[in-house]
Amino acid sequence: MQSPRNSFAPGREVPAEAPPQRAASRWRIDGLHFEPKLEHEYRLHMRADQRTSTLVCLITALGIWLIFIGLDLTRLDGWAAMLAGDRDVPLAITLRLVTLGVLLIQISMLATQHLPSAYHRLSMLVLALIGATSTFIANMFKLRGLPQADIAQLVIIAAVFLPVGLTFLQSSAVALFVALFTAALGFVMLREPAHLTEHIRLSILLFFAVFVGGVGAWLRERAQRDQFLLRRMLHDHAMSDPLTGIANRRGFEDNVSSALQQARRDGVPIVFAILDVDHFKRYNDYYGHQAGDEALRLIAGTIATAGRRPMDLAGRLGGEEFGLLLYDVAPDKGLARLEKLVAAIEELRIEHAASPTADHITISIGATAFDGRELMPELYRRADAALYASKALGRNRVEFSATTKVEALSMETRRRA
Ligand code: GH3
Ligand code: MG
Ligand code: MG
Repeated sequence: MQSPRNSFAPGREVPAEAPPQRAASRWRIDGLHFEPKLEHEYRLHMRADQRTSTLVCLITALGIWLIFIGLDLTRLDGWAAMLAGDRDVPLAITLRLVTLGVLLIQISMLATQHLPSAYHRLSMLVLALIGATSTFIANMFKLRGLPQADIAQLVIIAAVFLPVGLTFLQSSAVALFVALFTAALGFVMLREPAHLTEHIRLSILLFFAVFVGGVGAWLRERAQRDQFLLRRMLHDHAMSDPLTGIANRRGFEDNVSSALQQARRDGVPIVFAILDVDHFKRYNDYYGHQAGDEALRLIAGTIATAGRRPMDLAGRLGGEEFGLLLYDVAPDKGLARLEKLVAAIEELRIEHAASPTADHITISIGATAFDGRELMPELYRRADAALYASKALGRNRVEFSATTKVEALSMETRRRA
């Protein structure tokens, strides 16, 4: 669904522009990427979506890590024996604790922040650290003839592909790092032929695990991306008006309430307007419904262009009635812009021989200023009353609502009219 301009609030998941598609990208290595803007949107969505599963995975990892630390403690005599003049042991303990620290940081970050946008980097670091530490300690124990579980590297590689906010490429990179590091470290640490044969077997298994995990992750990501596009498309359809392509009432009101919320927070002025085409029933009766539709399209395009700034919002409220929100605009400036819009509709010169107001289509506007606190129904009520006045005072004009705050302005408008 194309729109003449973006009529959705900034920061929303679904801008009305960009038709959802797996667009060509500069970076087609994995055949999954969207074009950059959509890709960014997908990743934010995916990370927000996987936040809980990441938290569950990390808490599980923390539990397992603590069990390993507990096992270490039960073997303290072994550690103590090793500690005597063994420089590997302090390194192993440091690695265990650093990994524990990073895990705790990430868990607390995910649990406390609403939407940490870069937690995937810590996920990658945690997984790489777990992989590196585990293989180092397993080799250390193996060299000293103590029981160990180097096969656990396979589980770690499987864990890298769990939903922890990573894309297919990021997971594959970490899994490959763990496999390569495990293989390389083994060749450095385990030089005895008996150990080495076993190590080569394990390394081959690890690369198989990376491959199998990668295929699964690729398929899962492709399905996830398709689902993302589908949801985005459905949202687009539900929120936009098929005739004019701008936001429909639901989309407009959704965005207006977020804009009001933001304006309340930031103390920003807003001008809110309802626009109605004059004598449109007569236009339909005279020129036919199809010509009426065409006129509505042209009018909607002009209204959307008037709300052209990034935070402005335009929408079709129904029939021949439109809504316009001008963000961060003082009442006098807003009024000037709305008067320009009335003139711009006149300049479209859409012939309307049946109109008592002019020989072309005109619109009437009722507008009001946001008082910094009120809710949407109150704005609607005032703008609607102003529209009623605008119609009564002759149409083809703007009437600003008479709240205390904008009383003077309204008087001024009346005088000019
Ligand atoms: P006023 O100046 O007082 O606003 O008069 P009006 O005729 O514009 O208002 P009224 O509410 O009586 O009529 C609105 C008309 O808008 C009725 C209907 O024929 C027309 N209309 C509503 N929706 C559509 C649409 O989607 N397409 C077309 N072509 N016409 C529509
Ligand atoms: Mg009308
Ligand atoms: Mg109407």
